[in-house]
Amino acid sequence: MLQIKDLCVNYGGIEAVKNISFDVPVGKIVTLIGANGAGKSTTLKAISGLVKPKSGTITWDGTDITGRDSAFIVEKGITLVPEGRRIFPDMTVLENLKIGAYLRKDSHAELQKDIENVYELFPRLQERSWQLGGTLSGGEQQMLAVGRALMSRPKVMMMDEPSLGLAPLVVRDIFSIIREVNKTGMTILLIEQNAHMALQAADFAYVMETGRITKTGTGAELFDDPAVKAAYLGT
Ligand code: ATP
Repeated sequence: MLQIKDLCVNYGGIEAVKNISFDVPVGKIVTLIGANGAGKSTTLKAISGLVKPKSGTITWDGTDITGRDSAFIVEKGITLVPEGRRIFPDMTVLENLKIGAYLRKDSHAELQKDIENVYELFPRLQERSWQLGGTLSGGEQQMLAVGRALMSRPKVMMMDEPSLGLAPLVVRDIFSIIREVNKTGMTILLIEQNAHMALQAADFAYVMETGRITKTGTGAELFDDPAVKAAYLGT
C-alpha cells in the first residue's frame, strides 16, 4: 500500500499540510475531500515528487519515496492526473497518449497494445485520435488525461479534481470511468471538492481542513455523516 505518515509541507512560511497520516490500500479507491486551500493538491504534489515535504515519510510497496524526484516516482508506478488536465493542446490525441509512455522502455508493439487498451476504454478518443487536444471538450480532455496517465502503466493513479468545470452528466461519465479503471485492479487516490460523487465512489475517505485530516471513514460512512453533509454535500 501507499502509506503517508506525519507528512508536513510548507511553502515558505505557510504550513499547507500539517502532520497528516493516511493509507491507500492496493486496489482501493481513496478520496481526500475538503474546501479550497485545505491542502489536498499539496498532498498529491508531495507524493508525486513535485514539492518536497518538510518532514514525514511516504512509502510505496515498502520503498521510501519521500522527497524523490517525479521521474523516479512515475517509474515506481505512481502517476498524477493533474488539476485542469494539462494536456498538450497543439498535439493530437494520439501524440498526447504517446507522451504518457515517455519513461517506458518497452517495444513499439507493447506501446501499441496499451494505446489499443486506452481506446477500448475510451472509444471517443479513438474516433478523435487525429484531433488536436486543445479542441476536445472538457470531458474528452479529462478522458485524454486519464488515458495518458494509463500509458505509464501505473499501479496507483492519483487524480486532482477530475470533475472540475464539467457538466453533471459528464462528471457521472468520468466517475464511471474511474470505477471501471479501478476494477482492473488500479489503486486510486482521488481529491475532490465535489464530495458527492467522490464519497459514493470511495472505499475510504478523509476530510481535510486547513492542512489537517479531521475525519476518516468509509466513503459510505462519511456520506451519511451529518457534519460532512452540512459542510460538503449541501444538505
Ligand atoms: P484547491 O481545492 O483550491 O486546489 P487544495 O485543498 O488543493 O485547494 P492546496 O492547493 O494544497 O489546497 O493549498 C494549500 C495551501 O497552500 C493554500 O493556503 C495555498 O494558498 C497554499 N499554496 C499552494 N501552493 C502554493 C505555492 N506554490 N506557494 C505558496 N503557497 C501555496
